[in-house]
Amino acid sequence: MMPDKSYYQERASRLRIETRAFIDGRYQQASGGASFDTLNPATGEIIAKISACDGADVDKAVEAARRSFDSGVWSRADPSHRKDVLLRLAQLLRDHGEELAVLESIDSGKTITDCLNEVAHEVPRFFQWYGELIDKSFGKVVPTGEEAFSVIVREPIGVAGLIVPWNFPLLMAAWKLAPALAACCSVLLKPAEQTPLTALRLGELAAQAGLPDGVLNILPGTGEITGQAIGRHPGIDVVSFTGSTVVGAHLLRYASESNLKPVGLELGGKSPMIVLEDAEITGDLIQNATMAAFWNGGQNCSANMRQIVHQSHYTAFLDAVITEARRIVVGDPLDPGTTMGPMVSAAQRDRVISYLRKGVEEGARPVLGGADGPTGAGFFVQPTVFEGVNPRMTIAREEIFGPVLGLISAKSVEEAFAIACDTEYGLHASIFTRDITRALRLARRLPVGTVSVNSFSEGSIATPFGGYRKSGSRSRDNGTEALEQYQQTKTIWVALNG
Ligand code: NAP
Ligand code: MG
Repeated sequence: MMPDKSYYQERASRLRIETRAFIDGRYQQASGGASFDTLNPATGEIIAKISACDGADVDKAVEAARRSFDSGVWSRADPSHRKDVLLRLAQLLRDHGEELAVLESIDSGKTITDCLNEVAHEVPRFFQWYGELIDKSFGKVVPTGEEAFSVIVREPIGVAGLIVPWNFPLLMAAWKLAPALAACCSVLLKPAEQTPLTALRLGELAAQAGLPDGVLNILPGTGEITGQAIGRHPGIDVVSFTGSTVVGAHLLRYASESNLKPVGLELGGKSPMIVLEDAEITGDLIQNATMAAFWNGGQNCSANMRQIVHQSHYTAFLDAVITEARRIVVGDPLDPGTTMGPMVSAAQRDRVISYLRKGVEEGARPVLGGADGPTGAGFFVQPTVFEGVNPRMTIAREEIFGPVLGLISAKSVEEAFAIACDTEYGLHASIFTRDITRALRLARRLPVGTVSVNSFSEGSIATPFGGYRKSGSRSRDNGTEALEQYQQTKTIWVALNG
């Protein structure tokens, strides 16, 4: 029998919650003694007071990371050993998958079903995939004349600062941590204030897996203090960040005002879904459309909020999407029957509601949901469908990061393409059509990092993920490309004279 809500509630009541930073292989309070609260977004209650790291803690973690890196205990360890450690970590994460999923769910408001999938299933796969890559990555031999021999080797960049958001807390940490560790770096990880709990638990599991002290340091704290200290630290060699475009710009500034460290940026989006005239409006298409807008309560950087539908399908699509969206069950995230939890925080809920009001003010028509959502202790909003959206409206231009689907009508493929491109972002796009030639032509022309055809998909662990335009820098998470964020190349040139 499938576990029910009471099973997960009981599991939640037995969780042991780690609240301290993990520095140099052991848990410790922040040196300044400060703390912040992490809440359960479904109830608004405080779960725990978490150590708030400051500049002194970041200094301490950088020293530990540098010491471990220079000692070679990880950075120059045998590849087969490093692989074994990451594979052991993957297994430990699987063994603790349910515990971590419940912890993630109460801290973030994400549904238990999604947490089990992401935390118990996908996160271990990341450590496994990059662990297995360790002894299968090669350098290059340079084409030279007989007078020289030259190779290009990939070397770890050193100490990496990883700053992650709250929408996929442990998964985003794994997207960065697994390749950074596989690339031999020592790291500092800063989870988001709203969702520090699963990342903190990871420290102990990594130590159990055999990761040497100092290689992984986990520093909870605010972006303004802990994040900025990481961004400005002269002893950190690279920063990889996922979050908002505004903070991404801050990190570029911190780098330019400190040691010119490279900054990998994975930022926001305003991703389009295009439904062409020749598409068939099937149940599968409608499920993809609703998932694209409402999955994770729309708190997803690649959410396809702008759904650009050929006018011939507009009414049928709208009716089907409303029917499908009505099936969304908003409620207690620990109930396996729930398909959408609350927003992560009161601030995020209020932000979403302000966009819902703006949409109405600017003339879009809410045909499902709207700003007058449930009131109560949790940070809930209703799934909302707007029709009659036009590309100049604020809700069609700014990232909402909430459960909002906006329908835009288009007369032709060229008009749909123009609307899709009319944004400063470029993370993702979906295209629905039965004409594969048309799909591939459009896919090549769209200025975005990922295009999915006849589905809403972000690809897989094997495919690089990242944005064009203001959705990111040239860096990519996932795939073998992710290693490049944490490596630099060295040329070794040997003269063979005589
Ligand atoms: P955010 O402020 O960019 O937060 C992301 C991470 O950056 C968090 O760990 C945050 O720390 C940290 N941070 C904040 N200010 C910083 C600073 N000055 N220096 C260094 N680090 C800093 O994003 P958010 O406020 O959580 O969400 C706001 C918007 O960002 C969303 O509505 C959405 O538009 C976008 N977003 C995008 C993604 C994505 O996957 N692309 C994910 C989340 C959010 P604290 O949380 O501790 O302050
Ligand atoms: Mg929380």
